[in-house]
Amino acid sequence: MKPTRWTLAVLGMLCLANGTAASAAREEEYALKCRSNDRVLEIYAAHPVDPARCAAIVARVMKAFAFVAGRSDWKDRGPLTARPLQFALVGEDAINVLGYAQGPDLMVMKDSYLDKPLSEGTLAHELAHIQDARQLRGKRMPSFLFEGRALVIGQAYRLHVGQSPGDYDRQMARSAATFTAEQAMELLDNFRGHGWNNQAIGTVVVEYMRTRWKGGIPDVIPRLSRLIERIAAGRDFEQAFADEFGTSAEAFAEAFAAHLRATQGDTAARLQGTMWQSVGTGSGTAAAPRDAYVSDVVDLLGELLK
Ligand SMILES: [Zn+2]
Repeated sequence: MKPTRWTLAVLGMLCLANGTAASAAREEEYALKCRSNDRVLEIYAAHPVDPARCAAIVARVMKAFAFVAGRSDWKDRGPLTARPLQFALVGEDAINVLGYAQGPDLMVMKDSYLDKPLSEGTLAHELAHIQDARQLRGKRMPSFLFEGRALVIGQAYRLHVGQSPGDYDRQMARSAATFTAEQAMELLDNFRGHGWNNQAIGTVVVEYMRTRWKGGIPDVIPRLSRLIERIAAGRDFEQAFADEFGTSAEAFAEAFAAHLRATQGDTAARLQGTMWQSVGTGSGTAAAPRDAYVSDVVDLLGELLK
């Protein structure tokens, strides 16, 4: 396949992910392996992909994509399919993470990881990022909110396809149970944060909004879509937040901090009503499964947002 703008873009990212130029030689071997009938989804790889497996991956991604779109309840679904979504399957050594979404058009994942059940959640998670980025049309939103939305949708999708909460959820529950108000305020001050704590605090924020804030906002995921649509229409984050929720982001942060203080050290109270209530935090201090699963997904949205 001739190098394209896409392959050049991926080349840059693989180099970034590897920290070397070693993937350069492999790059030009990336080729289109299969795509959805509507041509919205294209699967690329630099290695052979069995046609039946490729078709099965297309079906899985499209199913997750539809779930995310449904949960998000976008006012206008047009941007979701306006351009092809390129999904690159990479080998074990190509990247040092399981996968990531880059901007509105590209998702990269280790081919082997797709055989693991948790990858269903990762697909939905990354597709939430893709849909958010497509709806935002280049505008900005705090990275912790991207992550919170994506992780809540990702867990919902795993349950939707019949999986049970597992180690990953228990690990996230432990973080949710132990954040202090001071840690939280520091994390929420950083609109371009990344990594586990950024993902975890974003998820705690969304779950707090859903279950507690103003008596609970059960439809918080669609409401966050409305927030994104307001930002896309030209409002900055603070304005859009106040418009959508009728309260300033600052007042929200104060209420959130008060909630964390009131539930500090009381795991049951902290997790009551949340997606982690029935999951529990597990016992012991076993090596964090977060190091092996979704948290390894590095979101390069920060790059997009610069
Ligand atoms: Zn993410």
